[in-house]
Amino acid sequence: MSSSISERIIAIRSSLPDSVRLIAVTKQVSPEAMRCAYAVGIRDFAESRIQEAASKQAQLQDLSDITWHFIGHLQSNKAKKAIEQFQWIQSVDNLKLAQRLDQLAQQLEITPQVCLQVKILPDPNKSGWSRSQLLSDLPALNLCKNLQIQGLMTIPPLGLNDLEILNVFNHTRELAKEIQEHNLSHIQMQHLSMGMSGDYKLAVQAGATMIRLGTILFGERSA
Ligand SMILES: *Cc1c(COP(=O)(O)O)cnc(C)c1O
Repeated sequence: MSSSISERIIAIRSSLPDSVRLIAVTKQVSPEAMRCAYAVGIRDFAESRIQEAASKQAQLQDLSDITWHFIGHLQSNKAKKAIEQFQWIQSVDNLKLAQRLDQLAQQLEITPQVCLQVKILPDPNKSGWSRSQLLSDLPALNLCKNLQIQGLMTIPPLGLNDLEILNVFNHTRELAKEIQEHNLSHIQMQHLSMGMSGDYKLAVQAGATMIRLGTILFGERSA
């Protein structure tokens, strides 16, 4: 099992351009398997539940150069824990949450890195900004000076074909470019976090800078 994790990571890593950061999604993955990933060079780990992450972070404390990414839906009451435990919050999905994180970051005197989660197509199963909502929230987001807004994150709706998925990723890149052209002092758009096990090749083709891979590295999750 462990050697196959390393082999899969090495194979995928070598197929990626150097510009793409491989984020290992480790929800339901054991700390032992995470150590295998670390051993072959993974330094970015992503979790979607604060509690589950806390326990693994404690068990992996000796691996002090890990960067932790939060990728789940974040409730306001967990916001403080999230920015204490994670260097990146990739799933900031509404203005109120961004403002809450900004306020907490100021109190804690930290400047977490965040991505704004966007929905290019309507999707009742996912949270995130639509293009028009995000464009109108930009001035307020630009006031969140304790957040380092680094780019966009997206998850395409289920059931799309490859061309439709590629379109979602291309539109996400174009939206980032459009936002960048507003030249807002506190909003950077260098990162595009897009692509999971089933669609990462399309995401890379569309210019992803971070891909988030779980199943293809660690095998199927039980739930
Ligand atoms: C679970 C998850 C992933 C990884 O999905 P796989 O299909 O297992 O690669 C990526 N991003 C988010 C936001 C997730 O919740």
